[in-house]
Amino acid sequence: MTARRPKAEIFEVGPRDGLQNQSRILGVEAREHFILSLLDAGLRDIEVGSFVREDRIPQLAGTQALLARLDKARSRYKKLSPRFWSFVPNRKGFSDALETSSDGFSFFIAASDTFCLRNVNRSQEDLFQELAQLLPAARKAKRLTRVYLSTVTYCPYEGPIRPAQVLRVVKKLVDLGAKEIALGDTTGHATPRDMERLLTPLLKVAPASRFAMHLHDTRGLSLANVCQSLEMGVSKFDSSAGGLGGCPYAPGAAGNLATEDLVYMLQQQDLLKADIDLAALARASHWLEAQLGSLLPSKVLKTLKG
Ligand code: MG
Repeated sequence: MTARRPKAEIFEVGPRDGLQNQSRILGVEAREHFILSLLDAGLRDIEVGSFVREDRIPQLAGTQALLARLDKARSRYKKLSPRFWSFVPNRKGFSDALETSSDGFSFFIAASDTFCLRNVNRSQEDLFQELAQLLPAARKAKRLTRVYLSTVTYCPYEGPIRPAQVLRVVKKLVDLGAKEIALGDTTGHATPRDMERLLTPLLKVAPASRFAMHLHDTRGLSLANVCQSLEMGVSKFDSSAGGLGGCPYAPGAAGNLATEDLVYMLQQQDLLKADIDLAALARASHWLEAQLGSLLPSKVLKTLKG
């Protein structure tokens, strides 16, 4: 790897994408403790909650109250300058999110129309029309934005997704002014060759800095896919502490790429931009294991026991 290659950045999704898939529900106080311990480990970009209906995803109930508590803690983390992100699924969620101090909003769409329908009960076209309004409105309100583009290589309902299909969606998102597009290998099917076939055309329509990779470790290939993405210049990666996660609408999908595994690999090669304290991160995940009453899948976390 050349010295000029940008160092990797991490977007922590555990408190949202991870916890929403757990059967045990944590209260606002426990989630705040977890998030503060992630800040203590040096993680700066954290997706802390979601403005979904609380009866639909009770695991993330009270996101508004959580953000108010986190806002009070900001002064303790001046140097880190944390960015608390929220998932915004629709217009109602958007107006609720605007009332909070959430620094960034993340939105959803999928390359597969069937996945859009099954996941949020909306067509892809409907989601595009909403994004055309919400992305500029978020920018006007001085919030950071990103769009999750799910099922970029494989859809649990439609099967393999062609790169041309993803390219069509990415072009539209770029036209709508999407600042960051997080490409989701939702089911963890992708190999490094799939990453290459996916990214080659995308990097002709937008710079690498515009993309993040949202990888799942279902088949143990997420770190290999990180390496391939880095080779191609994409340097932002979503991960979750301990490898928390899954997807209720993607049967068989395992957890997200584990932050500990990603941090270890990047640090050992001097490829990580931020100064992350891996031991502190492991303490946060071990604390969470006790709260959830189950072990998390991260391999590196298991080596850091005790
Ligand atoms: Mg995920």
